[in-house]
Amino acid sequence: MTKWVYGFDELDLVERQVGGDWEAIRGFLGGKGANLAEMRRLGLPVPPGFTITTQACMAYLRGGEAAPEGLWEQVEAALADVERRTGKRFGDPASPLLVSCRSGGKHSMPGMMDTVLNLGLNDRVVAGLAAISGDERFAWDAYRRLVQMFGAVVLGVPDEPFEAVLEDARRRAGVDSDAELGASSWKEVCAEFRRIVETGAGGPFPQDPGEQVRRAVEAVFRSWNGRRAIDYRNASGIPHDLGTGVNIVAMVFGNMGVDSASGVAMTRDGTTGERRIEGDYLINAQGEDVVAGIRRTEPIEKLAKDMPESHARLAELVGRLETHFRDVQDIEFTIERGELWLLQTRNAKRTAQAAVRIAVDMVSEGLITQEEALLRVSPEQVDYFLHPQLDRASGEAALEVERLATGLNVSPGAAVGRVVFHPDLAVRWAHEEARPVILVRPETKSDDVHGMLAAKGILTSRGGRTSHAALVARQFGKPAVVGVAELVVDLEERTMRVGSRTIREGEWISIDGTTGEVYGSRLETVVPDIRDPYLLELLGWADVYRRLGVRANADEADDARRAREYGAEGIGLCRTEHMFFAADRLPVMRRLILADDPAEREAALAELLPLQRGDFAELFRVMDGLPVVIRLLDPPLHEFLPPYEELLREVLTLRLGGGDAAHLQTQEALLRAVERHRETNPMLGLRGVRLGIHMEGLTRMQSRAVFEAAGMVQAEGVRARPEVMIPLVSHVNELKAQREIVDEVAKAVMAESGHSVSYRVGTMIEVPRAALTADRLAAEATFFSFGTNDLTQMTYGISRDDAEKGFLLEYMSRGILPENPFVSLDREGVGSLILIGIERGRKARPDLEVGICGEHGGDPASIAFCHEAGLDYVSCSPYRVPVARLAAAQAALR
Ligand code: ADP
Ligand code: MG
Ligand code: MG
Repeated sequence: MTKWVYGFDELDLVERQVGGDWEAIRGFLGGKGANLAEMRRLGLPVPPGFTITTQACMAYLRGGEAAPEGLWEQVEAALADVERRTGKRFGDPASPLLVSCRSGGKHSMPGMMDTVLNLGLNDRVVAGLAAISGDERFAWDAYRRLVQMFGAVVLGVPDEPFEAVLEDARRRAGVDSDAELGASSWKEVCAEFRRIVETGAGGPFPQDPGEQVRRAVEAVFRSWNGRRAIDYRNASGIPHDLGTGVNIVAMVFGNMGVDSASGVAMTRDGTTGERRIEGDYLINAQGEDVVAGIRRTEPIEKLAKDMPESHARLAELVGRLETHFRDVQDIEFTIERGELWLLQTRNAKRTAQAAVRIAVDMVSEGLITQEEALLRVSPEQVDYFLHPQLDRASGEAALEVERLATGLNVSPGAAVGRVVFHPDLAVRWAHEEARPVILVRPETKSDDVHGMLAAKGILTSRGGRTSHAALVARQFGKPAVVGVAELVVDLEERTMRVGSRTIREGEWISIDGTTGEVYGSRLETVVPDIRDPYLLELLGWADVYRRLGVRANADEADDARRAREYGAEGIGLCRTEHMFFAADRLPVMRRLILADDPAEREAALAELLPLQRGDFAELFRVMDGLPVVIRLLDPPLHEFLPPYEELLREVLTLRLGGGDAAHLQTQEALLRAVERHRETNPMLGLRGVRLGIHMEGLTRMQSRAVFEAAGMVQAEGVRARPEVMIPLVSHVNELKAQREIVDEVAKAVMAESGHSVSYRVGTMIEVPRAALTADRLAAEATFFSFGTNDLTQMTYGISRDDAEKGFLLEYMSRGILPENPFVSLDREGVGSLILIGIERGRKARPDLEVGICGEHGGDPASIAFCHEAGLDYVSCSPYRVPVARLAAAQAALR
């Protein structure tokens, strides 16, 4: 017969049955049960108890909610064993055993059933408990808690009537808090509670302790398929067939007087990562009181004064747990009349800053290796150092009070603003009145995007990690929390509600997209420091382990400086067109485009040359000694001209109005020119290398600017390493034609100035034909850079702007595409082209330098691909450089 039930001291047996792999054990017993058993094996003080396996849960659900054969017999036997160990008996008033019933799957999951404490009490046993504890108040308080929890959690009786009774009792006794109520009050409350249960559940509160346990266990099983649990699993990609374990644990009491207490402790500070025990406790309380926030908790340091012996023992035990699990532990403890018990341990949640510091500290303590430390911090956590965060300096407890609800953390960073429910209003408040807003919707769709962009952050009650709100938020770097099940958004009433708390439009809230938390007030934020010494140390290790180089996409000196500060090893993409959009240059650029004769064109180019030279010189200075990839002009020319429709409208108005004739004439000329440059498909039109071939003077001017600037800064002692890159090449002859010009200009400039500059000429691979003919291209190029933004567009035949505004989101929500290929590199398609390009290119030129400069260069999964594919470097936005350094190291270590 299948064994469904394992005592906490049967871990060795579990290991033999499921294999020694800890993940498998956690899957079998659930995380809570596995860790309780492990603590027991370490000889730590865990109350006796047992775990019902996740498989029993699945068997129960598959069998149409019927207990699998042997389950109740095994539970009974296990309870008998707990009786033996505790010397107490279930249902015996003379020496009653009480237990808790706790759920716990492989992954910790909100939406699962709450714990029921004090199972085993009934009308008879409560009297016995009062007698042996010598504390009537304690016994009746315990009983009323059981009736309430059992009623609410197992029988589904609503909470409100219970609260009403409590309020009434407090009023009648003339006290403010439950803690002040005496035994007789609790007795009355208990009777009321049983009546509430009886009416609410259509039957009396079960007096048989065995029945109480069985029904609690079944309720835990069923909660696996509760709406919220299913939604949560869908949203976070947890399989539905894992099931939850159930833990039955002998009760220990932190509420047996002033020598008793309950609390939680973390082995390090979860906010800063500092090595000190952090936690809260309450004297004379049960564990649930600590988290419920009904009484003000004490900081754990104070326990050293209140109960020095227990404090010392706790410090010793949690230290052992951390060493054993080799990670920060989050522990629940209870002190019953001076005796310390541990009720739970798990790897602690922590902020990004804490994660980094802890990883680094644990290496210096010899607890983990550098490799492990690098793998423990996620690239996203590094990213958090670059976004505003909630100020946690005043402690978790202060935040806890303000916390309304928790949803999915889909886009990192904190946002604080006034609630708005309509995207138009978001735009109005944000732009016209400069009020920070948070857009709150049940869910979002394309019509809402303008409001999402105007908002500081986005909050939705529905949707998962790939919902419209999540995708858009991530794309634009907006902090977002989605899928907050407890949140009720009423668009008519213009309110949002969580439980009994109602927030109206215009009131302040704060969201933390890093943790998924929602707060009902205006909280402070801070921007963490990228120069955090622990982060620098960790990234320093990353640099040792990674093979990929990391460069930055930077067009201006300021960006380049930031990139270098963040650890970039050069510029992988300088988009020269950005230099022509500045107000003092755009008119010259227009003159160049609209020139009627060569002389006019030359004059415009001559005017642009010194400006461009100055730009490049600045970049070379900042990147002294490091390569700078300069891409020749790439975009279609219409981008430098006024929009056609606008101009047409203006000319028509001028004609009708009969105004300034001279002005009309210039605008008409401009309109004709713009008309000439109009293309049906500009992105596939006259742009990239085609532009350089069409207007050779442009390539000459840009090359001259590069080499003159290089010579200029070399005279200052700066080492310039220009790499001139030809964009959008599809045929080798295009590359050849442009390369000849670059070489010719380089030679001429060097002869003029007498400075020799070492440089490279290479090409971007962003058209499938370029990847397929890479061997031909490599004959003319000393480097390749995969422009994966365009390469993805051209491989899919999808225009990114159009797609991301519309059908791509539909594709993803319907699962037609698993991911946005513009965010995470499509290995199958685009990746194949990259592999072909590298292979053919290197065959023709073994020392070909290969990089990537699309946005994928900053995406951890894409970086892993680049590592595997054997690229030399990735290039990404300066803000992603630290992320890329870690991701590249992780790719090398995995
Ligand atoms: P959660 O997963 O929500 O933390 P737990 O099952 O850990 O739920 O229990 C909720 C609270 O009840 C915790 O504070 C825990 O320490 C306490 N608790 C659970 N079982 C016992 C027990 N046998 N004796 C005393 N306190 C308990
Ligand atoms: Mg717990
Ligand atoms: Mg491109």
